[in-house]
Amino acid sequence: MADNLMAENAQANSDGIGKPNNNPESDRFEPALSQISYQEISGPMDKGLLLLCDHAGNSFPEGYGTLGLPESQLQRHIAYDIGAAGVTRELSRLLDVPALLYQYSRLLIDPNRSIEDPTLVMRLSDGAIVPGNARIGEGEIQKRIDTYYKPYHLRIEELVNEMKATGRVPALFSIHSFTDNWKGKKRIWDSTILWDRDPRFACPLLAALEKEQDIVVGENVPYSGQLKGDCLYQHGTMNGLAHALIEIRQDLIATPEGQSAWAERLARIIGDLFAGKEFDEALNEVKMYGSHTDHTVGSTEY
Ligand SMILES: [Zn+2]
Repeated sequence: MADNLMAENAQANSDGIGKPNNNPESDRFEPALSQISYQEISGPMDKGLLLLCDHAGNSFPEGYGTLGLPESQLQRHIAYDIGAAGVTRELSRLLDVPALLYQYSRLLIDPNRSIEDPTLVMRLSDGAIVPGNARIGEGEIQKRIDTYYKPYHLRIEELVNEMKATGRVPALFSIHSFTDNWKGKKRIWDSTILWDRDPRFACPLLAALEKEQDIVVGENVPYSGQLKGDCLYQHGTMNGLAHALIEIRQDLIATPEGQSAWAERLARIIGDLFAGKEFDEALNEVKMYGSHTDHTVGSTEY
């Protein structure tokens, strides 16, 4: 996809969160290299916010074909989070903050799982056998960890370190979408916030979303944000960085218009939050809250 590409060096500046970046130079993209599992939208490192999109893409690296799945399955939520990439890109532009998007399908290897999680590589997903995963051994899984999973997580670490080096501790905001229907049951929420024990970002964000008149908001549904080893556990909880994960119902962001509308809503809300001194100061600090998940493992998110 032509818009799915890596941004060129945006100018660093400190205009503050919520100020759209109108510099056309930073909107130029260049193709990602095929073996690189992530796409990066560069932006100012001193804004205190890094956007993450773990389930942005439904493509596969060369040599994997479609893991034996028909195209119809790749367009479903089992392959990626429909609409999440578009929201992330637009939110990155509106807030003028960097973003990292995992471009391959979660079916190749799920970057939002710990390496020990049994759902790291799904052999069966929502009733569909994944032929290219069904009979693979430890060697192939390790290869995917080394080639695709680890580089994404290393790049998050590097970006966090670069951002901290500016003197500003970044918060992490992860953007996902969920299916409107699960096992025949309609899901009522328009959007939900998932979090573990660090309330600094998640709670004010949840409160602000609940004030929106036209949406139904949930907390730690339809899955829990308390999953040991997931992306925000690895980079937020373990490093004392404030973080929050948003889930948006996929039918609301299936079109570019829906993605823009949600990005605008989130840019307004997050911009307002960062404009508050107390919120801004709380996030700009390394603080360890620990995790509710210390004695639990496993969950399935779609
Ligand atoms: Zn997701």
